[in-house]
Amino acid sequence: MRLSDSKILHELTALCVELLPGKSLSTLTSLGIGGTTDLLRITKHESIPAILDLLDRHKIPHRFLGGGSNLLVGDGELSWVVLQLVKPEPDVVLEGNLAHVDAAADLGRTVTFCAKHNLGGMEGLIGVPGTIGGALRMNAGAYGTQIGSYVQEVKVYRASRRRIEILRGDQISFEYRHTSFAPDDMMLAVTLNLPAKPYTEIIRGIRICNEKRRASQPMGQKSAGCIFKNPPGASVGRMIDELGLKGLSIGDARVSDRHANFFVNVGRASAGEMLALIAEVRARVEKSYGLRLENEVVVWSA
Ligand SMILES: Cc1cc2nc3c(=O)[nH]c(=O)nc-3n(C[C@H](O)[C@H](O)[C@H](O)COP(=O)(O)OP(=O)(O)OC[C@H]3O[C@@H](n4cnc5c(N)ncnc54)[C@H](O)[C@@H]3O)c2cc1C
Repeated sequence: MRLSDSKILHELTALCVELLPGKSLSTLTSLGIGGTTDLLRITKHESIPAILDLLDRHKIPHRFLGGGSNLLVGDGELSWVVLQLVKPEPDVVLEGNLAHVDAAADLGRTVTFCAKHNLGGMEGLIGVPGTIGGALRMNAGAYGTQIGSYVQEVKVYRASRRRIEILRGDQISFEYRHTSFAPDDMMLAVTLNLPAKPYTEIIRGIRICNEKRRASQPMGQKSAGCIFKNPPGASVGRMIDELGLKGLSIGDARVSDRHANFFVNVGRASAGEMLALIAEVRARVEKSYGLRLENEVVVWSA
């Protein structure tokens, strides 16, 4: 979608929005797949209600992009614009056991920054790519840790009320790769309450998680992490592996040889190819195990 009305462009500039016209989302997502649209980079939280009000008034559909590490975006010209927060400096401020973190901050760097100040708990999240905003939305988790467990409060733009609000952690439900935020809520910042731990102990935990990840996941390949959610008590990766589907390909979309719940783009895969592979694997798992798999990857159709 291209914004061309000069009045809208002028208003966006006045609201400190940086407009990158015709961006290819294939360059902004870890899968390396996605069509083109205008990218609106937001530099000031305070402008967000006015920016979203402007988009609503002109009936301009939009999506929120974090680090693009859990997204499968459709091909071609996209029918919505993308909003992304610009990371402020500093993006993490510590106050005792509390870490005040901007939603645009990188999750991994936040974990290591806090570690250097003897604040731990999030070791399991090392190696999960993306931003704090995306991690909050998805309740990112790994190796028994989930970000939701440390949330004291979240600063969020609530589209339904057209204003920025602070939600306490106990007002939000954080479940397995699911949260109670409304689809049009925009995460702006979070306060994490982290346990004090010696740096050396945290680094030991981080190294263990890094090794586990290196041993089980395709490193250096284009993916969006796990494609499907694990049903309670079961491992989708194991099921797909048992069906002999590692290496199954449609065009350049391929089931990883290393971790069967990771689907990789081995060249110039299109969204159509990746979606066809997802549908094929889902159908085969359903036929053999009687289980209908739910996506973990977020699909944005064109
Ligand atoms: C190699 C690899 C390994 C991975 N391993 C793990 C893992 O172990 N555990 C795990 O949980 N995930 C994992 N993932 C998936 C992904 O990294 C996480 O889901 C991550 O938290 C997504 O963050 P993001 O900023 O990239 O979000 P994006 O992919 O940009 O967006 C994901 C969703 O969050 C929304 N969103 C993003 N930012 C905001 C915001 N500020 N406000 C409102 N909504 C927003 C988007 O609209 C979208 O719906 C992995 C991915 C890869 C590529």
